[in-house]
Amino acid sequence: MAVLVESDSDSEDVLAVASGKRQRAATVPTDMAAEEEDEEEDEEEDTPEEPKPKSRLRKTSTGGAVVVKQDPHHALLVGSGLGTSLTPTERRHFGRQEKKYRQVRDKILTYWSQNEQKWVDLERCVLECENEEDPELVAKAYDFLSIEGCINVGVMEDEPDFNAQWDAARLLKTAKTLQRWVKAKVWSLIESADLEETTAKGIRQQLEASYGPNQTQARSELFAALKPFVKAQIESCLAFRSKGATDEGERNEFLRGYLETGGDGGAVADTGVGLGKLVVVVGAGPAGLACARHLRRHGCRVEVLEGRERVGGRVATDRDTFSVPVDLGASIITGVSANVSRDMRYDPSVTVLGQIGAELTEELGRECPIFDVVEGCRISGETDEKVASLWDNLLNVASYKALNEYKSAREGGGPGKENLGETIQEILRGGGQNEEGGEGVRSEKDLSDPELRVLRWFYAHQEYGCSARMTEISVEHWNDDENVHGSGFGGGHVMVPGGYSEAMEAMARGLGVRTGEAVTKIAYGEGRVEVTCERRGGEGGESTIVADSVVVTAPLGCLKRRKIEFSPPLPDWKQSCIDRLGYGNLNKLVLEFEPGEDGRMFWEKGSNSVAEHRMFGLTSEDPESYGRFFMAWNMRRVCGAPILVLLLAGEAAYEPESGGHGLDAKAMKVLRKLFHDVEVPDPTKAKATAWLSDEFSNGSYSYVAAGASGEDYNTLALPVSSLVHFAGEHTWRKNPDTVGGAMLSGMREAQNILRMFARDAASVAEDLEATLPAEEEEEGNGVGDLFQSDSDVSEGEERAATPKRKAAPKPKRTSPKKKPKKEREKKIVGSVQYLSPQDHALGKEEISRVYKSFASQENLDLGGLMGSLKSLEGRRALVKQACALAQQGKVVLTASDLDLLNAWVLEYRDAPLCADFVLSCVRLLRLLRLPSKDLEGTDLGDTVEGLLTHRDQKVKKLAGLLLQDARRQTEREAKVEGERPDGAGAGAGAAEAKREEDEAAAKRLEEARRLEEEIRARKEAAQRKHAEASRAFQAAAEKMGVLPGEERPPPAAARAVAKGGSGGKRKRDKSSSSSSAKRSAESNKRPKEAVIDFIKSELKAALQKGGIDKDAYKRIFKSVWGQLEGHKALKESQTFLTSERRDKISKLIAGYVQRSKK
Ligand SMILES: Cc1cc2nc3c(=O)[nH]c(=O)nc-3n(C[C@H](O)[C@H](O)[C@H](O)COP(=O)(O)OP(=O)(O)OC[C@H]3O[C@@H](n4cnc5c(N)ncnc54)[C@H](O)[C@@H]3O)c2cc1C
Repeated sequence: MAVLVESDSDSEDVLAVASGKRQRAATVPTDMAAEEEDEEEDEEEDTPEEPKPKSRLRKTSTGGAVVVKQDPHHALLVGSGLGTSLTPTERRHFGRQEKKYRQVRDKILTYWSQNEQKWVDLERCVLECENEEDPELVAKAYDFLSIEGCINVGVMEDEPDFNAQWDAARLLKTAKTLQRWVKAKVWSLIESADLEETTAKGIRQQLEASYGPNQTQARSELFAALKPFVKAQIESCLAFRSKGATDEGERNEFLRGYLETGGDGGAVADTGVGLGKLVVVVGAGPAGLACARHLRRHGCRVEVLEGRERVGGRVATDRDTFSVPVDLGASIITGVSANVSRDMRYDPSVTVLGQIGAELTEELGRECPIFDVVEGCRISGETDEKVASLWDNLLNVASYKALNEYKSAREGGGPGKENLGETIQEILRGGGQNEEGGEGVRSEKDLSDPELRVLRWFYAHQEYGCSARMTEISVEHWNDDENVHGSGFGGGHVMVPGGYSEAMEAMARGLGVRTGEAVTKIAYGEGRVEVTCERRGGEGGESTIVADSVVVTAPLGCLKRRKIEFSPPLPDWKQSCIDRLGYGNLNKLVLEFEPGEDGRMFWEKGSNSVAEHRMFGLTSEDPESYGRFFMAWNMRRVCGAPILVLLLAGEAAYEPESGGHGLDAKAMKVLRKLFHDVEVPDPTKAKATAWLSDEFSNGSYSYVAAGASGEDYNTLALPVSSLVHFAGEHTWRKNPDTVGGAMLSGMREAQNILRMFARDAASVAEDLEATLPAEEEEEGNGVGDLFQSDSDVSEGEERAATPKRKAAPKPKRTSPKKKPKKEREKKIVGSVQYLSPQDHALGKEEISRVYKSFASQENLDLGGLMGSLKSLEGRRALVKQACALAQQGKVVLTASDLDLLNAWVLEYRDAPLCADFVLSCVRLLRLLRLPSKDLEGTDLGDTVEGLLTHRDQKVKKLAGLLLQDARRQTEREAKVEGERPDGAGAGAGAAEAKREEDEAAAKRLEEARRLEEEIRARKEAAQRKHAEASRAFQAAAEKMGVLPGEERPPPAAARAVAKGGSGGKRKRDKSSSSSSAKRSAESNKRPKEAVIDFIKSELKAALQKGGIDKDAYKRIFKSVWGQLEGHKALKESQTFLTSERRDKISKLIAGYVQRSKK
């Protein structure tokens, strides 16, 4: 179990000093650490969140080792990525049932956290939540927590393989979400079908073919489960259409009634939404593996393509070279427990390691004494402190300069291009004190040689944290992630003695990762992607996979070098961001030694023994390569291995890339200088990493380079054209450059894709609904949502939201009509995905203008407004609004307006992902009821005819209907005209035509009512079936002994299990029935009353059955209550009446009843 309730909450602060970057090794010069611990040791309460100081050092000097006692429940919530209050996503889905949802959620999370090795299924959760009444809510909460990755994450022993085994329960649940899709799809197929030739079977086959790209066993099972439903839908639509009902109003009426009976459309994505879809994941590092597992858990088929011959990416354990496993890449888990006060979760790899039972080292702690190699001794506490405080002040002044003096450079809105290295040098050259820097900022000249060397050690440390040279790091944003709420992971840091790769290998198990297959090209568009990969080694060769979506987790270094060709090329906003954000280098030199004859290592002896320290710092003689071996990990102290790991940061990180000639010798020279009074043998084994030269990494990890900003992490996270998704440490602003951050980014993209699939399934329904007269709306006009778009995903700052999106205005109540919410989300997501920031801004402005104009209809100059719109977003909004008005017959377009509309259709007709806009334009034309003469022989008419061969079925179909309508309209007009010659006849002819029309309308109305009646009857039949299933579930559950004497309304899935036949049908036991409302009231009672009522209800049942008489009733009551009355728990506990106790009491009563019968 990963949640630790007591933790060294400030270890992440400590990193500030040691790592420059919080996520690196937890280090602080020892003397300072000791002092701080003394100062802070009495603190024990969970401290409120303090504002984050700008400088890491400052933070450390006020922080310290604080043992925090956290509320375990809060720790559980924060550790799962939720919070002590509802997250925005939770609020949106469950806000109305907040209290109940919290209860349900907490129970599910608690249950999961008790044994994270086991998959938690829905049925179990319903049982766990027995007092929470509403199985539907439990199901919804379960789906939500599961998709959000709060439960059932990592690697579980019994993780179901959804591609192989779809149990009946899950299938039916999925089917429920799809009911709406099926309805809409059936209607659209039937509406455009030739009834002479169409059969119900044909429709069913088309329906199946249009759901998911491939024939999978799961899909067949799904449709088998849906068969009766589909049949009913086809019958009702065919019946409607064969009556020849063509009137718009009537059709709308039918559709509304028809669709309204289609379930909730899946407000929260169902856990089976990915069923049948294929997603390619590029890269089997932490991000790719986490993403692939999550997708697969929710029903997607996944192909993971990995260029290397191994999985894990920059998590790379070497098990061959040394006597023990050694991590050549990531080695430190940067937080093992939640920190409630700072809203920090723990690194999710901890869950995986816990699940596989991997051993972890003890917390690494914070001590890191610095040794001066030149003098061959340890730096004094005084020097440590002096230089540390100077460094702190330098960072403060640099940050002051960045925010003030460099302001002009940022006037254009972008980040300044100044770098940290030059700024620090400038400050030091300037000397003296700075108004913001406070005490201690002086010229380098004031420092002694050892002090200067220690200062350079701090430079190296900074370069280690950012994996870049000081002159490459942004002075303004280098610590951007600190400013994001909840950034970093909570708790202490540890390593994995068996190697961090254990976690990655476990995650890869069962995924069928295709190693040695490097992706070279990704072509995307038309709703699909083609991923081409090159087989490395062996016979080589190339292959292409066609899929529904792709997730690219290749490191930023590979993207920078354009290792993968995108077709069409990535848009500018994406590519420029890839080029801008930093991606640096860091390397390690690992040395293994033989212990001495006394069993001790040389570094455990002599005057400079570091036997007690897990890590120690080393200054450098050479002012140019101060990053070479600036820090050493004493693996003997960490995990008992006779190994030293030396780090190479900054400029020195590039030394091993050119072969690392003489690196070992240089290291030995340094070590011999430091441990001068002991014999230092040559290493038995040595190995240096070269991450920059590695073609699948091209460096170590991301950092905010001069000219970039934290926003770039968010932009890198955005998908391109909703088909190409991006994950990886470089897309996770809160915890970049960590394994945990990479995993969370992978989960995020999996969630995005799942939601997208869920929306896909509902989109046909939405389009049809959009043809219905718009309903009065609750709130908002969608303008504000534009940048909040995928709020399902943009959970707080986690979703890569640009500040613009965050700061977007709240939806205002302006327009009288707006499109349904789900549709809004879908379209909006589209726009966010393809637009550059400038286009976003333009779109936003135009949408807002459109809504404002439509709000005051009297002054609406439609033609003028149309002419002023430049963006697709603005035009889209206008057409939608015009459709709403046209439905009320309030829109008239002049010939020039029609020309403009024609031009828009032509402009977007073949543009990718604009079919919805073209569809809206056609819809508008249709609503205008144009006669043929307005179309025939005109440019507009030609355009509409051209749409009859459009790639999008819906556009095609609607264009056909538009032309058909126009012909009918002309006929109608001709009829009226034809009767007009003598003037009198015209009136009579018109009256006759009207009478005919009225009669036809009356007939159609009658038929619609009959159909409605039929639908209602079907609904009732379905409800009856549901009730039967409930009873079957009850019987089955009782048989299994999980529902002692009490009815629990089964969840959808559980119902299905019962229905699926395991339980068979048994008669419902009246004595045990109680409604959910009743249980709710019961749970509110005091325990005593609840127990008395329970005994009474059991006895009443026996009385009714004739098992006892009234005297026996009283006698038994007295005896039973007599036994329970004095029970200690009855006074002390609020939850006395657990199911176990109910069971016992029932048995006790049954015993008495039996005896009294005798
Ligand atoms: C030296 C070093 C030390 C580090 N120390 C720590 C640490 O102590 N703690 C910590 O949390 N993090 C540390 N990190 C960072 C951590 O390793 C990364 O943040 C993390 O591995 C990123 O995961 P990822 O999935 O985004 O990318 P990666 O782990 O790089 O995975 C990406 C995968 O994509 C594959 N790939 C690339 N191109 C292609 C292609 N064209 N086709 C197919 N596959 C491709 C790669 O082979 C790789 O397997 C360290 C990194 C380095 C280099």
